[in-house]
Amino acid sequence: MNTSQHVLRDLGMSRRGFTKLAAFGAGAALFGRSSLVLAGGHADALLLSCMDYRLMDNVASYMNGRGLTKHYDHVVLAGASLGAVSDKFPAWNQTFWGHLDVAIKLHAVPKVIVMDHRDCGAYKLVMGEGHLASVETERDAHAKVIGDFKQQVAAKYPSLQVEGLLMALDGSVEAV
Ligand SMILES: [Zn+2]
Repeated sequence: MNTSQHVLRDLGMSRRGFTKLAAFGAGAALFGRSSLVLAGGHADALLLSCMDYRLMDNVASYMNGRGLTKHYDHVVLAGASLGAVSDKFPAWNQTFWGHLDVAIKLHAVPKVIVMDHRDCGAYKLVMGEGHLASVETERDAHAKVIGDFKQQVAAKYPSLQVEGLLMALDGSVEAV
């Protein structure tokens, strides 16, 4: 056993694993640091949705239905658009913008999809229940916050597309 084999054995690493590592190292040296930053490839969008457990499967089904399976980054904040822009949640705001920045740097996302939903607990926490008077007033409340969200994205990233959506509890989705 030569010295490198001893090192591999001590690291618990197979020769094959070492070869992969060596190839990666050579690639890193060849392409430099900036290419490594983009090594994550390309995603078609960043999705911001609420954390509500009732709709997680519907959200995934909706994205799959659009052919976006494994092609989007996903940030989850209670309230979705509200979590990103409400001054009630400054730490959440910062978390969202930080993640959007990373999604752009790592995966060159060209679009943000914000998916609010009806009967959202975060909206009730911030606004009370007045906006739930009718399906229209509830939609208007989401449209206003999503409008603020779109403006903030446009101000920070003028070339980014933004799509606002509102999901009902049956999983149906309307544009907002
Ligand atoms: Zn919610």
